[in-house]
Amino acid sequence: MRGDIKLIMKKIIVGNWKMNPETLEEAQDIAKEIKKIASKLKKIETVICPPSIYISNLKSKISNLPVDEAGLKLGAQDVSAEFDTGSYTGEISAGMLKNIGVKYVIIGHSERRAMGETDEIINKKIKTALKAGLKVIFCAGEKERDDEEHFLDFIKKEIEGGLHGVEKKFFRNIIIVYEPVWAISSGKKFRPDNPDSVFKITIFIKKTLMPLVENGALRSIPILYGGSVTALTAREFLEKGGIQGLLVGGKSLIPKEFSQILEIADRL
Ligand code: PEP
Repeated sequence: MRGDIKLIMKKIIVGNWKMNPETLEEAQDIAKEIKKIASKLKKIETVICPPSIYISNLKSKISNLPVDEAGLKLGAQDVSAEFDTGSYTGEISAGMLKNIGVKYVIIGHSERRAMGETDEIINKKIKTALKAGLKVIFCAGEKERDDEEHFLDFIKKEIEGGLHGVEKKFFRNIIIVYEPVWAISSGKKFRPDNPDSVFKITIFIKKTLMPLVENGALRSIPILYGGSVTALTAREFLEKGGIQGLLVGGKSLIPKEFSQILEIADRL
């Protein structure tokens, strides 16, 4: 029983590489460095999400051990909304990802929403990924804060829209990331959120999830924070944000800094 509780509480640190790096060799170097540290850390789940084109290669290179024992899981940054294979030029199906050893997929990232992904498309992708047996890293977050807290309605709408009609049994494979768009480091005037505000919004997200999940299941849905996390801020967010992990963008491409974040999470 104690073991089960520990498993549920395991921190999850996800690295979102976005459209980086330029070459496979660089991707291998980054992955190798991260693997070195991840394989030593037993109390956290480390996930890297490279561009899909590198995944197969990284899977074999980072894993002469079975992937799980290597302590590093692979995630994709997107998936097709279509479940069956077919005439969908440029798309990659959830089944294809699953069959090459991908365990997780990021869905609903604001950078994809900015390319035109609606809540309806995101909802379809989430259902498709879950049906294929992938774990979904579902991102939601407001573009702007306002003093009247209308931004909370925005977060609620994104979460309810993305999870509409998802069968309750699938919630064990869902991770929610609270990622305010204004806090992402690639933004022009970005600034990280602070742990107190993340704590408040984590509670709000849990309340939003409550009617959607089975009794008792809420506690096992990890909520992560993403937005300009660095090795200097990771501890505070993890200790005070009421979260089970972090989604790290820019700093996940810097093995030394990402490793520090992993070590911080493992020690907590
Ligand atoms: C992201 O875009 O998912 C992200 C977390 O980026 P960054 O850490 O660079 O703000």
